[in-house]
Amino acid sequence: MSDPAVVTRLARELTAGVKAAELEDFYRDLHRHPELSFQEHRTAAALTARLRAAGYAVTEGVGRTGVVGVLYHGDGPVVWLRADMDALPVREATGLEYASTVDGVMHACGHDLHVTWLVGAADALAAARDAWSGTLVVVGQPAEESGGGAAAMVADGVHERFPRPDALFGQHAAPGPVGRYAHTPGLVLSASDDLDVVVHGRGGHGSRPEAAVDPVVTAAHIVTRLQTVVSREVAAKDSVVLTVGRFHAGTRHNVIPAEARLALNLRTQDPGVRARVLAAIRRIVEGECAAAGCPVPPGVDLAGDGFPVTVNDAGLDAETAAVHRALFGADTVLDFGPATGSEDFSRLAPEGVPYDYWFVTTTPPGIWEAAPGDGLAAKIAAVPANHSPLFAPDLSALVPGVRTLVSAALSRFT
Ligand code: ZN
Ligand code: ZN
Repeated sequence: MSDPAVVTRLARELTAGVKAAELEDFYRDLHRHPELSFQEHRTAAALTARLRAAGYAVTEGVGRTGVVGVLYHGDGPVVWLRADMDALPVREATGLEYASTVDGVMHACGHDLHVTWLVGAADALAAARDAWSGTLVVVGQPAEESGGGAAAMVADGVHERFPRPDALFGQHAAPGPVGRYAHTPGLVLSASDDLDVVVHGRGGHGSRPEAAVDPVVTAAHIVTRLQTVVSREVAAKDSVVLTVGRFHAGTRHNVIPAEARLALNLRTQDPGVRARVLAAIRRIVEGECAAAGCPVPPGVDLAGDGFPVTVNDAGLDAETAAVHRALFGADTVLDFGPATGSEDFSRLAPEGVPYDYWFVTTTPPGIWEAAPGDGLAAKIAAVPANHSPLFAPDLSALVPGVRTLVSAALSRFT
């Protein structure tokens, strides 16, 4: 169904019966019970129960805690809808009646909302299956935050054991006045790499630095010098973020420690730029350690798999955005451009298969109106964003987030 008008009418019909109150209950329950990456047992069970009740053939434990539901309904394209399921090690400070009951763990990125959207869409598309022909695959992905979830599902055969997609869709909650849909054709999210740096000095007494090689001073020089990578080695047209997120050394006032450890995070949008920046980081760390006379060369290692870039298929994004425009109004669909955030969603797409990933804005109206600043960007920077202990999506985004997925799937089916 390529005519946006037909898809829009059908999406409205299919989702007219979506029970907002019932979806809210499901959402509040997930929000109260957040689970960290690869520990999403309760969340996966809740998703599984809903999919089975709706008639899906469900496989649990795909990539450890992942869930895959398949609804075959005649010949036609295979469409995958994906939601990530994990929460974050953040202590919730929203004061909401349905706040997290798990100390130090919170759905601070809205993945509970993503799962609820997926359940709503899966229900609506199953209930009205006679309106479309094709195969719908619903994916509950574990461990997006830690970066290994999609890769674990792929390693567990998600591309071989289930119908191979012709198109994949994913969506994410984001700050912004509730009821906007941010579509970006092409590059939408950056690659992310974590690096561990170890500076090896020579420990000693704080009173006798001449007998030691102080790794604290060397690591401090490294942190400062790394600030020149983006400002002095990257072209103005290229987007790069380099952050030192952790600096750890020493035990007490009068001991020069034997080593210092740094944890770095790098965001890039181009493979060539990524390689250059990684080489610059290594050069600077090795250079500072050589300058300080460190007895052993430093360690500079990539940690984990990182995140790849997310690059929407421009044609698919244009078609999906057109349907969302028709559904919600022309001025509700925006293009925020490429973000420095990262996702592992694209790993679920087999090589060459088009995918589309967009944002649904969820800031409650009261918070949005009270936010300081003029214009969208300033206000977005001022309201609680993903990973904030105050992140609290407005529940009025529940049903629209079901409609976005339903209409995207319908636009591919015959
Ligand atoms: Zn997140
Ligand atoms: Zn997220």
